[in-house]
Amino acid sequence: MERQPINYSLIFSKKRRTTAIHVKAQSVSVRAPHGACKRFIDDFVLSKRTWIETQLLKQSDFTSQVTKPLQDNKVMLFGEWVNIKVSRGKRSQTICEMGAVELVIAHRVSQVTSKAKDMLLAYLSQSLTVYVNERIAYWQNEMGVTASDVKVRTYKRRWGSCNQRRELSFNTFLVGAPKWVIDYVIVHELAHIRHMDHSNAFWQFVETKYAHKNQAKAWLKENGQKLELRFE
Ligand SMILES: [Zn+2]
Repeated sequence: MERQPINYSLIFSKKRRTTAIHVKAQSVSVRAPHGACKRFIDDFVLSKRTWIETQLLKQSDFTSQVTKPLQDNKVMLFGEWVNIKVSRGKRSQTICEMGAVELVIAHRVSQVTSKAKDMLLAYLSQSLTVYVNERIAYWQNEMGVTASDVKVRTYKRRWGSCNQRRELSFNTFLVGAPKWVIDYVIVHELAHIRHMDHSNAFWQFVETKYAHKNQAKAWLKENGQKLELRFE
């Protein structure tokens, strides 16, 4: 079977003694000693084909995981894609109807992207707050525990937390997950009111209250990275 040639850029260096291949941002570059034979370099690149292809694939997977809502004009809301439209108007307001969110930005606002970002994050945070508050009421009753406060904020690297004062917080980006996954995070954090660790007793408590713990954990592991939104 004929295989595609590998396109690469070549950089010669007087200081180099060995040939090295770099794969970054979907492009391949080869650094070679000054005067190295082109035929040798081609053969070297071909001998590393499998490794290069794996790197390219890994990197494309990684970049496709990142959602840029204001560039892609869509955002995940409770496991469903919602279209985003940015428009101008007399005053700034967020309108949501028929599975779409319209961010109307007042004519006087000059930093449109920054304003659109703030408005979208506020909308997502508000949507998650409404859902979480409704479900906390249900789960507190089911689990026999009471939180003292509930917050929704943007965090890096965690979906929720619970402190000694029984204050729970949830990551705004959780709003993209399906509701059954969000419920797992709610049950998990509420369970910490009784067990402030990840002991067997803690997991048993979670499992007796919430039946899809393993599926929810697997969903977050697989899709969690996609939930984090980028704006630059
Ligand atoms: Zn925990």
